[in-house]
Formats: sequence, C-alpha cells, structure tokens
Amino acid sequence: MAKSSPEEAAIAPEVLAKYETVIGLEVHVQLLTKSKIFCGCSTQFGDPPNTNVCPVCLGLPGTLPILNKRVVELAMRAALALNCTVHEHSRFARKNYFYPDLPKGYQISQYELPLATDGWIEIDHGGAKKRIGVTRLHLEEDAAKNVHEGFSQSATKAYVDYNRCGTPLSEIVSEPDMRAPEEAYAYLTTLRQIMLYTGISDCNMEEGSLRCDANVSVRRRGAKEFGTKVEVKNLNSFRYLQKALEYEVERHIGVLESGSRIFQETRLWNQDESCTVSMRSKEKAHDYRYFPEPDLLPVHVSPAWRDDVLRTLPELPEAKRARFMAADGLTPYDAGVLTGTPALADFFEAVRKAGVPAKSAANWIQTELLRRLNDSGKEIEATPVSPAALAELLKLIESSQITGSTGKKVFATMFETGRSANEIVAAEGLAQINDTSALEQAAREVIEKNPDNVAKFKSGNEGVFKFFVGQVMRATRGQANPQAVSDILRKLLS
Ligand code: ADP
Ligand code: MG
Ligand code: ZN
Repeated sequence: MAKSSPEEAAIAPEVLAKYETVIGLEVHVQLLTKSKIFCGCSTQFGDPPNTNVCPVCLGLPGTLPILNKRVVELAMRAALALNCTVHEHSRFARKNYFYPDLPKGYQISQYELPLATDGWIEIDHGGAKKRIGVTRLHLEEDAAKNVHEGFSQSATKAYVDYNRCGTPLSEIVSEPDMRAPEEAYAYLTTLRQIMLYTGISDCNMEEGSLRCDANVSVRRRGAKEFGTKVEVKNLNSFRYLQKALEYEVERHIGVLESGSRIFQETRLWNQDESCTVSMRSKEKAHDYRYFPEPDLLPVHVSPAWRDDVLRTLPELPEAKRARFMAADGLTPYDAGVLTGTPALADFFEAVRKAGVPAKSAANWIQTELLRRLNDSGKEIEATPVSPAALAELLKLIESSQITGSTGKKVFATMFETGRSANEIVAAEGLAQINDTSALEQAAREVIEKNPDNVAKFKSGNEGVFKFFVGQVMRATRGQANPQAVSDILRKLLS
C-alpha cells in the first residue's frame, strides 16, 4: 500500500483545487436533565466515581428501564429548533457490543425509527448563508467512562466510572452538505448556539457534553459520486475539528494523486503530533445486531405535546440577529457577536433597556467588556459589571460628565473592584473639566512651551493642531472636554 503521509510534501494549490471536499458531522449532545435517561440517578458531573449508580444503570439482571419524560421533551425542543419533523411514533433499539464501559452488553439507542428527521440549519460562512441538512436526531444513553492510569498502552491500571452510564444523549447527524473544514466549524458553532439558546445542553466540550465525529471524503470537482469517507473521532475542541479535517483533506488528495485509494476506516485525531492515526478499518467495524428494545414501550409524542413544546421555544439566534439589525441598527458583525450566547444577548438588551443607545452599548460590550472577560478567563455569566452598572457609566459619558478616555479607566476599576461608576468618579476626582478658565490656562502653557510648533501651525501646517490637542489632554490627564479644548486652542492660535 502506498505511503500516505501528506506532511512529507505539501500538495500544490492547483492540485488541491482539482478536488472537492465533502463533510458530514455526527454530534452527541448531553441533555441537561437532573436524572439519567432510564433511572433516577443523578447526572451531576464531577461527583466521586461510582456514587451515582443503581441496579438499572449498572445493568443488573431483573431490572427494567423507565424512560425519563424530560429527556424526550428536551430532545424535542432541540429537534424543533433544528427544523426537524418530530415523529409521533419512534422506538428504542439495542445496539449490541461488548466493552467494559457498557455493563449491559448493549446500548439503548434509536435506530430505524428515530425521534426526529429531516431538519436543517443555516450557517453563515464568509458572509454567505448556506443550509446544511440535519438527517436525524435520536435519543440514546451514554456509556460509562474508562479511566487509564498512565499515558501509554503499558498503563498499569484501568478503572471504570459508571456515573456517566445512562446519561441522556441526543445524537444529531448531518447530511454530507459541507464543502470545507470552515463550513464544518461554522455548522458546529451554529448548532452549539442553538442548543445553548434552547437550554437543552450546556454544550461544555471539556466535560464531554458536546462531542463531535467528522466524516470526510474528497472527490474530483464535477464528479457525481462521493468519494470513500473516513470517520475522525476524538475531536474535543472546535480547533481540533478544523485542523483534523484540513489534515484529512490533504491526506486524501495525496493518496489519490499517488494513484492509490482511500479505505473506509475510523481514525483518531492526535493533537500532540497534529495528525490523524488509523483506529480501525470498516471491515473490522462492529456488527451491532440492532433489534427493537423489548424492555421499553415505543415512544409516543402526541401532536398536542409537540405543539406545547414548540410554543415554548425561545427566540433563536438567527431571529435575534435579524432583530438586532432591524430594530437596533447593528451591523451584521456586531449582531453576530452580541448574539453569540443567550447570556450575552440578554446583557446587551438589558443595557439598551436602561436607556443606552444601541451603537454605544454594542461598542462598549464588544471592546471593553468582552476583552476584559476574555483576559480574566471569565464568562459573561460571571461578569463583575452588571448591565445597570455599565449603563450608569455610559450615561456619564453621554452627558459629558466624564470623557470617553476617562470612561475606559473607570470601567477598568469597575471591572476589578465591582464599584459603581459614580462612586469611582467622585472618589478619584475624574469628572470632566468643562471649566473654560482652567482649560485656557492649560492651553496657554502648552502654546508657550512649543514656539516651533506654533510657527508651523501659523505657516499653514494644520496637522500640528492635533499635537496641541493631545498635549492639553495629557496635561489634564485626559479629563478635559475634547471639544472645548479644540475651541480654545483655535481661538488662542488664530
Ligand atoms: P455510516 O453508515 O457509515 O455511519 P451514514 O450514512 O450513517 O454512514 O453517515 C454518517 C455520516 O457521514 C453522516 O453525517 C453523513 O452525512 C456522512 N457521510 C456519508 N457519506 C459521506 C461521504 N462520502 N463523505 C463525507 N461524509 C459522508
Ligand atoms: Mg452512522
Ligand atoms: Zn441508575
């Protein structure tokens, strides 16, 4: 078999351009319920190992699963938000395989009759909108977690934590509609956003609440048939997803260009080596011997129940973006950032409701607030500056009580100490200097100290005017009203 490592020789762009990439994603989302899907055990993440277990989720003989109604409701919310058809009748199935993290010897999943099918989401990629089909959304239980001590094959001990066993998951399978790694990135981002908005999952990738497997193939441009696909697992961040797909696309093209062919297989992303490695070939893949789960009744969703759920769906990100643009006059970019999470959108709306103009609220949140949250590793939920506190600050600026640049300093102090803008301005004497005699005094001093620049200005060099404004602002520690400074300088220099 031909060697297939693209890192040896980068592939020329004109060769890459002969091929088209095809990607489909399978995403597992942990549903945000208090208890597991078929028993009453807690789903709390991070509890001591094997404390949230019972005979049902441990698969002891003689026990029977009971479906958690809330699981169906949350999955339905997700399905409706993804424009899927929720079926009145769906059914659980047994997916049989043996592994230490699966005490029953089978996983209860849905197979030929999933909860929902035929949806779509719209992604925004480079300003262009594109619909990506959602093939199906089904319910299943999670497996337990294997924990290995040591880092290699020669690990001396392996443990199993059954706390995760029976945690409710919803698997969302996309159509092979994506044509570039960036589209896959955009799809996963959009999907995550919808899940957060509908509150069906916390989508925390570090805790495994959102997991993604990527299927990728390439074909000659213009070809009708898809190429052979490879599945890549172990993509536990958005960045890894994109990097792994970029790597695979080049690898596939390298293999095809060398006259060899791609074999259907499952590969793992290895972050340390920045490459994918083969895990198992499709030939060796399991035959799961699916059959209908005899211990559970079919799932029945009445149209009335479905409509109830539909009525309680919140405003979704796309609709919110459109509203922020139409009603608040935000740019598509600003609207995109501010609808990033429901919490951020709520923050923006609360600042607006406190009477701050949209543009100013949008700017301050995106520059000052998000930058500082990011620097301190905090989420918007943990912001030390509330919407009301930010609004108070912005009103001081708007009414010319402090300058914009003083405002930034005040904001920094608010962020660090949680004190209010009014308090900080009063305590530190930061109120804007509107007193013309004080400003005139400062301006005169600057003019006296800079005869050369005065001469330049008088001989028609208008550019030097900014220098004078800057010097006066500096002399007043940024507290002078810039318009007043400008007026006074014009008067004194002419
Ligand atoms: P399998 O039976 O191997 O699981 P499926 O048909 O169920 O395959 O598809 C699984 C995922 O792979 C879906 O997200 C689908 O969009 C995607 N997929 C299917 N064929 C291809 C292909 N040729 N290239 C890329 N992705 C594909
Ligand atoms: Mg499949
Ligand atoms: Zn249990």
